[in-house]
Amino acid sequence: MAFKIGLLGLGTVGTGTAQIILDPAGRNPLLQDITIHKVGVRSLDKPRQVQFLPGIMTTDLEAVVNDPDIDIVVELLGGLEPARSLILQAISQKKHVVTANKAVIARYGDEIYEAANQAGVYVLLEAAVGGGIPIIKPLKQSLGANRITSIIGIINGTTNYILTQMTTEGADFGEVLAEAQKLGYAEADPTADVDGLDAADKIAILASLGFGGRVKREDVYCEGIRKVSAADITYADRLGFVIKLLAIAKGTGGEASDRLQLRVHPTLVSKTHPLASINGVYNAVLVEGNPLGQVMFYGPGAGAGPTASAVVSDIMNIVAILQSSGPNNGLDPLLSCVHQHFCQITPIEQIETRFYARFLTKDLPGVIGHLGTAFGDHQVSLESVVQIGFQGEQAEIVVVTHNVCEGNFRTALDEIRNLEAIADIPSILRVL
Ligand code: NAP
Repeated sequence: MAFKIGLLGLGTVGTGTAQIILDPAGRNPLLQDITIHKVGVRSLDKPRQVQFLPGIMTTDLEAVVNDPDIDIVVELLGGLEPARSLILQAISQKKHVVTANKAVIARYGDEIYEAANQAGVYVLLEAAVGGGIPIIKPLKQSLGANRITSIIGIINGTTNYILTQMTTEGADFGEVLAEAQKLGYAEADPTADVDGLDAADKIAILASLGFGGRVKREDVYCEGIRKVSAADITYADRLGFVIKLLAIAKGTGGEASDRLQLRVHPTLVSKTHPLASINGVYNAVLVEGNPLGQVMFYGPGAGAGPTASAVVSDIMNIVAILQSSGPNNGLDPLLSCVHQHFCQITPIEQIETRFYARFLTKDLPGVIGHLGTAFGDHQVSLESVVQIGFQGEQAEIVVVTHNVCEGNFRTALDEIRNLEAIADIPSILRVL
């Protein structure tokens, strides 16, 4: 039985997807049952790496999602609109959907999955997080027996590349960003990556799957890497850490109604931690659950081939289900979205974490004592206090705390800022 695909988008991932489907030899035999029926793009005049018979490519995207012959719509346009509307339109036409669009799913997943469940169709998104790394299906299926306690990921290749280069070259953020843009590792407008927004989209999706509840994208606390300096990377190194942009979802391992921590921020990671060695554009997701313990998924987080590998695996999943049981047997609960409630999120002020803070202080007596007192007054206990050296007249002091309540730490900092001896607090980072 042959199944017809409507491809929306023939850019980086769309081209990779078409290349796999058009070259099935040596891959899973299911691929031989899949044909590309229509391809929707913006311009028909662009040179393409794959060629189709006349009439297959169109600029009329609605004609693709409304085509009665198409079984599965594969949305690889990117952006919020028209992607969201076309996905909903495809669902209303009772077509299954495969997408790589984390931005749409993180913001409109609620609406999309409601519609999909009502229509009895699948919306699969393996490519939306971690590119070629299988992480969505493992969270839905292979790890389903566990109570997940945390999901911690390096899930944005651009920022991981920038931080890795800053570490190996001792260069500052701006310099490395410009180089990454030249090499095509960062977009001309790098906001979504460097401000942590892309990682926040992705952790919202992973948290929803791992912790079995819907997640509002705006509940993800988000800080990017613009303020990370070469100096902090050097000091972190001296203290036994590397700096990574981590996306963190943490529960308490109890009931689904427990509060979740959901945050994206640059983080000091001990050099002995498994995530410390994830470098360059690679991604990794460390999942911890009970009784499994830790499992880490690692691989290429983007690129035409890896991302298309995930897209095509979703298409094959749907085709396998359609072939074996037909479309009318109800949705497989391990592949569809069955969450009804929203996860409760812990406000950032209430989380407990370790901190690293760097202070520039005037050369006055008793500065370290004043710092210790201000922290102690707010139940912030210090793991280490190191005077790194001098910047001109000012002494540079780095403090690492034990696990403390973020709200208490911030109140202590407000007090410390007013101390006569404190000239500046150039950086505050969390420690894993
Ligand atoms: P891309 O290279 O920019 O390709 C986008 C494609 O969609 C192009 O073919 C473009 O047509 C078409 N398109 C976009 N807006 C359109 C519109 N309004 N009307 C008609 N056609 C439109 O994007 P991509 O890198 O392949 O990314 C696709 C999706 O995959 C995104 O959601 C992205 O977040 C996700 N993703 C990408 C990667 C990656 O490595 N690139 C990794 C993981 C996930 P033209 O060709 O005519 O311009």
